[in-house]
Amino acid sequence: MTPSFPALPPDPFGLEDPAVALAAIGRIQRWRDELRAWLARAPEVSARMRALLDEAARGAPDARLGPFPDAPGADPVRDLRAVLVWRARVLHWVVDAWDVIGDDAFGVEECATIEGVLGRPAGACAYCFARDALPGAHFTRCAALRATGDVARAAAVWGAPR
Ligand SMILES: [Zn+2]
Repeated sequence: MTPSFPALPPDPFGLEDPAVALAAIGRIQRWRDELRAWLARAPEVSARMRALLDEAARGAPDARLGPFPDAPGADPVRDLRAVLVWRARVLHWVVDAWDVIGDDAFGVEECATIEGVLGRPAGACAYCFARDALPGAHFTRCAALRATGDVARAAAVWGAPR
């Protein structure tokens, strides 16, 4: 069974309650442990994909997709935002990692599997989980996407939040 990114409180990127943020981080860290255990044996995902995601999830400093931010927090609100930006960056990469020319392409199916593992919040922005995200226009304001530094490409890939 594939690990599923945990449910989060509404508008988690704008959350200001440290206790709620800390609880969300705890759920995300458990998900990360499940993800790493799953990646160690996931037959539906290529060895190359497993290696890329595992180095990112374990927080390898030189992870090509960016290391999971594992700084133990005096500021859980900031830590939660950092984790959501990490997730947004990985999602941003995987949504079109299959859509390249040449031998570097990943399989469509494995990319879709990883999108599922990262979670598909229903009725909310796929990146920041904002519930009031307006189609299209949200991407220029999305806090998680802005932090990844690539708003325009995300809008081109997704068209509208789903
Ligand atoms: Zn957003």
